[in-house]
Amino acid sequence: MSVVTRFAPSPTGELHLGSAYSALVAWRRGREAGGKFLVRIEDTDIRRCRREYETAILADLRWLGLDWDGEVRRQSDHFGDYGRELDRLDARGLVYPCFCSRADIAASANAPHGPDGPLYPGTCRHLGPAERQRRLAAGHEHCLRLDSARAAGQAGPYEFVDATRGRFEGQPLLMGDFVIARKDTPTSYHLAVTVDDHLQGVTVVTRGEDILPSTHVHVLLQRLLGYETPLYAHHRLLTDASGRRLAKRDRDATIRSLREKGLTPEEVRRRALGGDALGAPRWNQ
Ligand code: GLU
Repeated sequence: MSVVTRFAPSPTGELHLGSAYSALVAWRRGREAGGKFLVRIEDTDIRRCRREYETAILADLRWLGLDWDGEVRRQSDHFGDYGRELDRLDARGLVYPCFCSRADIAASANAPHGPDGPLYPGTCRHLGPAERQRRLAAGHEHCLRLDSARAAGQAGPYEFVDATRGRFEGQPLLMGDFVIARKDTPTSYHLAVTVDDHLQGVTVVTRGEDILPSTHVHVLLQRLLGYETPLYAHHRLLTDASGRRLAKRDRDATIRSLREKGLTPEEVRRRALGGDALGAPRWNQ
């Protein structure tokens, strides 16, 4: 099977060394295998994403010498695809509306903790059908959540493989009843990324190890929706001299600032890959 990799930035800031590293890992993996490398813009968070950043990220990738196959897929152009898959999950009784605010969730005394902070305590899962209907009819703001326990029951046990870490037993409850469609869009990151990797035929998902917990629920969604599970390759995150993770707010680490300082694309690529062992990954799967 031919290898298809992708780089999927969210346009909430300029490309920085950390995200350039992620792009390079995916690009090299695709090119070394004689396969495809895709770029996808993940702009489902319509309040935080900006077109200027999208344009700048693509220009920086080109400047770095990374070429991609086909058109760039922009998620906000494909809400219909996510809505259709959401309806399939809903038809199986796996989705419920949640009317809680962030403050309601934070105030919940018994909210269990997950990898990204407090997990949703399930308040709205217990609403009766009449109360649910009343709130929907009254136009109360809501997102949609996946009933993860019921989803786990339908999916059954599952596994996935990370190229360097090996086999993982799927933990479908790890993110609790996570958001499957936001208040303002008919999807969430978790749904859109899973649907797109499937529709685009991605066979190797390379991305930062901070996203590894989410992989457990992406594979859950793949099981529910009847998709193939790709190989995963979670890579380390670049840090600054003090060991702090590089973030979009670190202006000195943006590709633009390095270019303006006079560094060449080759030098920036080398700086991103560093003396790191993962710069020359062992792709043994
Ligand atoms: N859009 C995500 C980000 O910029 C990456 C998601 C992924 O690679 O699956 O952090």
